[in-house]
Amino acid sequence: MITIRGVRKAYGSVEVLHGIDLDVARGENVCIIGPSGSGKSTLLRTLNHLEDISAGTIRVDGHLIGYEERAGRLHELRESAACQQRLQVGMVFQHFNLFPHMTALENVAFAPIKVKKEKPAQARAYATELLGRVGLAGKESSYPSKLSGGQQQRVAIARAMAMRPDVMLFDEPTSALDPELVGEVLAVMQDLARTGGITMVVVTHEIGFAREVADRVVFMDQGVIVEMGPPGQVLDDPQHDRTRSFLSAVL
Ligand code: ATP
Ligand code: MG
Repeated sequence: MITIRGVRKAYGSVEVLHGIDLDVARGENVCIIGPSGSGKSTLLRTLNHLEDISAGTIRVDGHLIGYEERAGRLHELRESAACQQRLQVGMVFQHFNLFPHMTALENVAFAPIKVKKEKPAQARAYATELLGRVGLAGKESSYPSKLSGGQQQRVAIARAMAMRPDVMLFDEPTSALDPELVGEVLAVMQDLARTGGITMVVVTHEIGFAREVADRVVFMDQGVIVEMGPPGQVLDDPQHDRTRSFLSAVL
């Protein structure tokens, strides 16, 4: 589903991704862990071309992301074309940034109506269904300011799902939440992973979540993938010192 080959990313003269190779299969849940500054968010953001890349290729469902090949060379896509690609890839951020002047339902139904030109009645029906799925039945008319952080993040997940993406990216979706609200958001993500059939890439510090939900765990440090494998292998029997010292610091 996702094929990442030789991806490098530099900010100015500083390279922060040093050649990333990673495949994510359809329906797979991959959790990316690693220390602060290791390049996790940068890698995630390249997957829907919120960041351009300096070298390598990324394909989602066979389609080159952010670039097109002409006369044997890669050219960056126009922003409008990049936006079109982004519709296939939903993203949930640490800060959920709901529209404050819209209800939960309007937040979820907005993009399908505006961007995908879905019929409003149909978009609202699906939004209602999704809000139910993230445990927010009855909160359709609530404004974000009346919802807890955990509830707002669940609206944000429903909002991303409303575009019916093939892939969902999560960048530390629980790290801005009060500890008692983390579990409800992780439970929704676990449900998506189990029943959604959706391909998920999750950057997280929640090692327990990675252990339970991930099909594969990727450990990144200093712009490279140090190791990856099933959670039982990477988390319980890491092969590299860097992984061991990271895990002993966070567990
Ligand atoms: P964290 O766990 O703190 O979120 P991370 O693994 O997500 O860290 P990134 O945010 O991907 O790390 O950053 C990787 C490196 O790229 C860091 O050294 C960071 O300082 C640098 N970096 C990130 N964004 C920019 C930017 N817009 N301009 C310049 N350097 C950047
Ligand atoms: Mg980050």
